[in-house]
Amino acid sequence: MWQTQFLETINHLKDHNLLRTLTPLDNGADTTVTIEGKKLLAFCSNNYLGFANHPKLKAAAIKAIQMFGVGAGASRLISGNSRLYETLEEKIAHIKSCEKALVFNSGYTANIGVLSALIQKDDLVLCDRLNHASLMEGIKLSDGSLRVYRHKDMHQLKSLLARRTVNRKAIIVTDGIFSMDGDIAPLPEIVALAEQYDAMIYLDDAHATGVLGANGNGTCEHFNLHSDRIIQMGTLSKALGCFGGFVAGSPLLISYVVNKARSLIYTTALPPSVLASALAAFKLIEEEPMHRKRLWDNTTSVHKSVTALGYNTCDSKTPIVPILVGEADCAIAFSKRLMQAGIYVPAVRPPTVPKGQSRLRITLMATHTQEQIAFLICKLKEIGKALGIL
Ligand SMILES: *Cc1c(COP(=O)(O)O)cnc(C)c1O
Repeated sequence: MWQTQFLETINHLKDHNLLRTLTPLDNGADTTVTIEGKKLLAFCSNNYLGFANHPKLKAAAIKAIQMFGVGAGASRLISGNSRLYETLEEKIAHIKSCEKALVFNSGYTANIGVLSALIQKDDLVLCDRLNHASLMEGIKLSDGSLRVYRHKDMHQLKSLLARRTVNRKAIIVTDGIFSMDGDIAPLPEIVALAEQYDAMIYLDDAHATGVLGANGNGTCEHFNLHSDRIIQMGTLSKALGCFGGFVAGSPLLISYVVNKARSLIYTTALPPSVLASALAAFKLIEEEPMHRKRLWDNTTSVHKSVTALGYNTCDSKTPIVPILVGEADCAIAFSKRLMQAGIYVPAVRPPTVPKGQSRLRITLMATHTQEQIAFLICKLKEIGKALGIL
């Protein structure tokens, strides 16, 4: 019975070009990857600043391993709360302009832990349709009543807030940079609505931390915005190049989360080396803004070229550059042809994106060279024409 169910599911996915498999890589997150002995140019990592293999981060991790060993040994509330947490959390609070921050084992566990702890029965939860899966998961673990609004549709958000019955708390949940479209949430408008209708905002800055804003501090800095209504969440695993997640806000909020977030309470703390390398990453962001500048130079250059070729890039404004092709089989064919040409750009299909919106998803890094980018553009043109997309 179980076997039959597995087989039916797998066959169904295969038939619809939706089967997912894991590809082993022979190297770290870099601008090139080696798959089955073949070296490919890679545009598929969230390691935006190239920090995942930066010597300073490696050195910090090695030093921490020598001092503290490899594993934390227990949860943060038992005996795993290395003092490195405190330093790292102070740093995060500072860059997020908040009083306090709290580190989780990943962005995913931060979202499920914090949202499920915050949202109480009958609270109104307003969620952008393109929000990350981990946000939806966190909300589903709560008893709140979920309303999904069309992507960045402020009229719909307003009317949902206006229709709220009195005495119900409300929270607006949004990505800062949307992970599959690369566009930016209209945060000033969201804050204005939150003020007008007395709502909180939960901002997922997974892709924006280290990337957006004059100092790489994220979406709030990008808009020069500060509001006590915003709870900021982020990850240490993308631009920071490490691992872990965090939430930042008031001391009262953090104290509440420490007591209520099950994904913090019932899991072993992060290895000290991970905390040390994340701290080194934040220092590097402060001290060496040229990494972010290179990332944005590459981003501007690719946006210009891809748009000039005539591709639809979904209003992307960031290093996440989607190329919309429509059907899953077309996206797969495109990705395969690029792979044959020596370039790895993954195809993203439902359920990660809505049906009919399958795409290639290019992500750029500070460490991509101009030659690598020129080669990508050349192949996007050639293959796009061959497949009849251009
Ligand atoms: C990647 C991502 C997460 C999860 O973060 P991890 O640290 O990888 O678990 C959460 N939200 C968004 C928007 C993301 O893109």
